[in-house]
Amino acid sequence: MTSPQASPFASLQHSEAVAREQLLTVDSYDVSLDLAGADSTFTSLTTIRFTSRGGPTFLDLKPESVAAIRLDGRALDPELLERGRFPLETTEGSHELVVDATMRYRNDGEGLHRSVDPADGQHYVYGMSFMDAAPSIFACFDQPDLKAPYTFHVLAPRDWTVIGNAPGNRVGDEPGGAARWEFETTQPLSTYFVTLVAGPYHVLREEHDGIPLGLSARASLAPDLEKDAEELFTLTRQCFDELHRLFGIRYPFGDYHQAFVPEFNAGAMENPGCVTFRDPLIFTSRVTRGIRVTRAATIAHEMAHQWFGNLVTPRWWDDLWLNESFAEYMGNRVTADVTEYADVWTDNSYLRRQWGLVADQRPSTHPVAGNGAVDASAALQDFDGISYAKGSAILKQLNARLGDDVFFAGVIDHFDQHRFGNATMHDLFQSWERAGAGDLSEFTDSWLRTAGADTIVLDRAAGVVRRTPPPEHPADRPHTFRAAVAHDAAWEERTVLLDSPEATFDAGDRPVLLDPFDDTWAVLMPDQVTVDGLKTLLPDVADPLLRAGIWNNLRSAFHNAAVDPDDVLDVAEASIPIEDTEDTLLRTMWWLRGSVVPLTSDPVRSTARLHEAARRRTAAERPGSEEQLAAFRALVATSADVGELTAWRDDEDLPEGISLDLDLRWRALLRLAILGATSPDELDRQLAADPTAVAQVHHTCAMASMPTAAAKEYAWARFTGEVDVPNYDLEAAGRGMWRWGQEELTEPYVERYFDELPGTVQVRAGWMLAEAAEFFFPSTSLTEETLARAQALIADGSVDLSMRRRLVDEADQLERMLNVKRTFRA
Ligand SMILES: [Zn+2]
Repeated sequence: MTSPQASPFASLQHSEAVAREQLLTVDSYDVSLDLAGADSTFTSLTTIRFTSRGGPTFLDLKPESVAAIRLDGRALDPELLERGRFPLETTEGSHELVVDATMRYRNDGEGLHRSVDPADGQHYVYGMSFMDAAPSIFACFDQPDLKAPYTFHVLAPRDWTVIGNAPGNRVGDEPGGAARWEFETTQPLSTYFVTLVAGPYHVLREEHDGIPLGLSARASLAPDLEKDAEELFTLTRQCFDELHRLFGIRYPFGDYHQAFVPEFNAGAMENPGCVTFRDPLIFTSRVTRGIRVTRAATIAHEMAHQWFGNLVTPRWWDDLWLNESFAEYMGNRVTADVTEYADVWTDNSYLRRQWGLVADQRPSTHPVAGNGAVDASAALQDFDGISYAKGSAILKQLNARLGDDVFFAGVIDHFDQHRFGNATMHDLFQSWERAGAGDLSEFTDSWLRTAGADTIVLDRAAGVVRRTPPPEHPADRPHTFRAAVAHDAAWEERTVLLDSPEATFDAGDRPVLLDPFDDTWAVLMPDQVTVDGLKTLLPDVADPLLRAGIWNNLRSAFHNAAVDPDDVLDVAEASIPIEDTEDTLLRTMWWLRGSVVPLTSDPVRSTARLHEAARRRTAAERPGSEEQLAAFRALVATSADVGELTAWRDDEDLPEGISLDLDLRWRALLRLAILGATSPDELDRQLAADPTAVAQVHHTCAMASMPTAAAKEYAWARFTGEVDVPNYDLEAAGRGMWRWGQEELTEPYVERYFDELPGTVQVRAGWMLAEAAEFFFPSTSLTEETLARAQALIADGSVDLSMRRRLVDEADQLERMLNVKRTFRA
């Protein structure tokens, strides 16, 4: 028995992983899956050959049911399976373990995920083993440093294609309508990157430099995949050439297939030979450059992982920066240097920098290197802005300091020493030392092994720039960066060397931006003179990186209650920030609408001012340009004019250059839903008219966003699991649930959230457990009582660790919003 708040599965502890690795060597996995049977389950027959030094250990297995477990031919009692673990007594020597089990397909983006495309009713499957989901596909010793080669055999419906980590072929048909697929044996793989992509996918094949390339997506996305295939293949070729040039080690995993799969949680997963991507990255409506830059950088990021992560894998999750920080840095760098997306660093500044800086200011911050992850489930929460954005920024600095020759000589030594094995950060530091990097301990201690970001501000009266380390994470971090000083409309660049707490800086009464070009890693905040100056200066700033730096400065100041939201709105009205062209989470317009506007002195009027600014901008941009589309999206999202929104929804009165597609129709419908100017019937009709997967998610969000009690009940039933929906719909329901201006309606759910959250471990696990805790957090309940209630739950020691981590972050966000309110709106 387990308590109602305990997860049904035990999470692997670091100490357990160390002990098991010392006891066992895994020689091979042979896995037979039958996907041709029921829609809800599949059979999984696994033979594991391993060598033991003798002693007790355990197997990881998360089945629906177990038919048999045999060790060296002897039947063991399946009833001994408890919380996903099966105990094993081993003697010294070689063993063969056979597990015959039935597994359940999942709909949360992990394990073997199965979904139905609403466009045509076709079924699709993909495997996501990441972190701790492999045992829900096959029996295994699930930890990154027990690598072994895999051989897969798959039965699948005859109209399906099956793709795995190694090349495979359809070898024949079985009686009863199934086809048999046999796969070559893989290189040694960690359990977490074993995958399988199966279904009536549309597949395209090419070749580059001896590497067979593939792309796939759902059949209903075939025309959209075809449309972008040349760009995707070109990016892949360019990145392979550059990575081969930089690493001098060829891609070692055979084929390189990129599968765009439904309802995928992350951006992508780097499975060797078969990378999986979220399929909204196959564009079904018109998109802007922002999302295309993101997609290109994601492609490059996953390719860099083939070396950083797949060829050499961190021994444990506390070193996940060896995966993510490197993939992020190399992905950005390669994208900038050899693809058409040379502006990726600017996009990165808009999209990723605040993600990292905010994470680094949370109570949950951790060092880039050595995050101290005690178990696999909790470690998932360190796939955050620190491991990606901060890690990439610090590696960029380290590369600048060492130079390419030494930087890559160390990296190549690291790959050579640990090829197809595992390593730690100490191994990498040793490789750099061997490559002639000298003593790196000061740099690594300050930037990689100490958490937190210094705050740097201009003290105009004292004529200095001042650095303040976070008191909880003191370190003596030197900074060198450029500052931009305004001389009327011209900006003078000055270099600041801050190797002590203060450096002389005389700016008179001119506006000053510190580090607007992302040279260092710190929280930079403009003073009031600068903020006031930006209201007239920003419209004329043409340098894209300087513009991004200005918005980052303003966002850091807002985050620390150091700028009045009314002032931010003045700047935004003067120069509405549509230049990063996307308004998804983490982007500038999203932040303005979701965080700044509600804390201005008159939110309704602030929205109207942004709306008029967006209208002017829509009219000013070239018809058909991406900037015009971005401005128009801002116009829709800020509209209070039901007549105009309804006309746009019906493809009437659209500005020249804007044509209605599914994305824009649902943007209009979402806005109408928030305003209470549509109905569930109308939303159902719109979905039925064009029932794609994208429309399905928009529909859920719009349904949850309406200002009615029924809408909030609809969302809540998804949170509690009373209505079981796939991961994307769960997210959409959470995003729609809490809307500014609907506080009276959502008030009863504040207390219910804190009461019912701990019990959600019974209805979901892994990635979505923590995500749902965040999506459904009562973010619009800006009160001291809600903050206190959140803190009380954080203090409850029985709460799941990944859930607690999200609570800590959301409570910090709420507290910061309250600080802004107290400081400027009291
Ligand atoms: Zn990654």
